[in-house]
Amino acid sequence: MKRALQALILLMLTALMPARAQVIERVDPPSWFTGMKDDALQLMVYGKEIGSYDVKTDYPGVDVKTLVRTENPNYLFVNLNISDIAVPGSVTLTFTSGKKKLTHSYPLLARPAGPARGFNSSDVIYLLMPDRFANGDTTNDNVPGMTEQLNRSNPGGRHGGDLRGIISHLDYLNSLGVTGIWLNPFLENNQQRSSYHGYSTTDYYKSDPRYGSNEEFLELVAEAHKRGMKVVMDMIFNHIGSFHWWMKDLPAEDWIHQFDEFTRTNYRASTYMDPYASESDKMLMEKGWFDVTMPDLNQSNPLVETYLIQTSLWWIAFSDLDGIRMDTHPYPQPDMMARWAKRVEDEFPGFFIVGEVWYDDPAHSSYWALNKVNPDGYRSNLPSLTDLPLCFATHRAFEGKLNPTDALSKLYNLLSQDFLYPEPLRNVIFLDNHDMTRFFTQTGKSLDAYKMGLSFIMTTRGIPQLYYGSEIVMEGDKNRGDGRLREDFPGGWPGDAKSVLAGTGLSEQEKEALEFTKRILNWRKAKEVIHTGKLKHYIPNDGVYVYFRYNCEESVMVVINLNDKEGRTVNGGKYAESLEGFTVGTDIITGMKTEDLNSFTIAPKTAMIIELK
Ligand code: CA
Repeated sequence: MKRALQALILLMLTALMPARAQVIERVDPPSWFTGMKDDALQLMVYGKEIGSYDVKTDYPGVDVKTLVRTENPNYLFVNLNISDIAVPGSVTLTFTSGKKKLTHSYPLLARPAGPARGFNSSDVIYLLMPDRFANGDTTNDNVPGMTEQLNRSNPGGRHGGDLRGIISHLDYLNSLGVTGIWLNPFLENNQQRSSYHGYSTTDYYKSDPRYGSNEEFLELVAEAHKRGMKVVMDMIFNHIGSFHWWMKDLPAEDWIHQFDEFTRTNYRASTYMDPYASESDKMLMEKGWFDVTMPDLNQSNPLVETYLIQTSLWWIAFSDLDGIRMDTHPYPQPDMMARWAKRVEDEFPGFFIVGEVWYDDPAHSSYWALNKVNPDGYRSNLPSLTDLPLCFATHRAFEGKLNPTDALSKLYNLLSQDFLYPEPLRNVIFLDNHDMTRFFTQTGKSLDAYKMGLSFIMTTRGIPQLYYGSEIVMEGDKNRGDGRLREDFPGGWPGDAKSVLAGTGLSEQEKEALEFTKRILNWRKAKEVIHTGKLKHYIPNDGVYVYFRYNCEESVMVVINLNDKEGRTVNGGKYAESLEGFTVGTDIITGMKTEDLNSFTIAPKTAMIIELK
């Protein structure tokens, strides 16, 4: 209710405002909050020649501290102090320059009460792409002023999905057993092409109107919370879209990294911790552009740093968000990113941030882990990171190219390197995401591989993330283009013959995958031993991998038999130290009881998740 009320107040304030003087085109952030722990707020004011103005306010508790001007006269940065006595309302800012005078009404809202909900290993996060998940409002498929129009026949075009579509699927997602959703970016991407993926921000404070309004996002978060689910927002600090409004009139020459000609990053994120890396390679990594249409922001400019930090604080406070997934985390200036993560933690203790750190191995990946002691002294302050090394290990393990024992050893060996992470339970783990060939396709479209992979990811350590469509084993091959990894979710569009929601048109295989996914996820929900229990694993042998999750109260035994055609007899004696005190068990997948843990059979290409008694 409170959030809806805030939205209404904001709407009314906007409506009541006198027509904005021509000269002030924009003030970012568009509003701010009382009761923040940090009293400082920096406004970016944009308008013709606004840089020549002074600013005053007599609003109780709000003071103009200093003004910062850049070489561009169309910008003015106003440092405000908002003290504890300031109450929500409309702050009148008076701009004067000689005899010229302008006013601007600035909304001050109440900061939402309550601590951050956070994410931890009791959660399962569902990753979905707003343009491709569900079209809940066909009236926003094409919006005047937006360059790219609907074209569902183009894999890289806009398909019409939106926030309304996600809201209408929340009950489905809740029944699937996920506890949170991570949306690929929904901020405005008014780019000429490929705007559907959302990674070319053209406005940091505005939902893309083809997805819906900021208020609809607020509604999405509130509706998720009603169902006990949480929401992760995708943010990008490294770069903007080439059609961002700044690009027409940059606040400062050094707002972005400039080169004489287009210069691409070398994508070599190892240069940060590599003791032998050359300065030129390090420079290219940080300052080179991610893509032609993605100008690289200069986070070493303190004004850029403050702008980016405030944008994240604003979205958290405005929408009551539960988490942020930071795109390309190692690409922006690393010290700034560490200060950002600390600022979020200071303002919203326990708030969840997962940084996308893309490496093949835990040595590099763990450099970014919370409380990691690095030789160079770097501390990321990042609560969580994406565990790509484990993801790649699951591909190697289940794609059928190695003999079963070597394949399963990929998992065993990878996890044996967990000493590199101070808290491996914090890692976000997954079989795939929007940037890679889907696990089902990678493993030769084998339902057995999906079942084994899912069983593994849902029972090993970490915070599992499931990519939309995996529950019905959707296909997606990176070699056919990124758009193919992000196909429309069946049933999300009016008239879809196949619908996951309605349960119509699904093949037997899709139904089986869906039921399997639901079963494991819903079982996992309440299973504390899987969330926080210790992990003990045994060297894979004869194509079988066995591990246990256990705590003082209970124990779960996971057995994966990767052998193609033959079952295997599991000899309990080998696992005596983990089986002590237990005699029988129940496989949560089949419901079958195992009467003798000392000797039982597992079918080929199968995982068993056995609750021990
Ligand atoms: Ca739509």
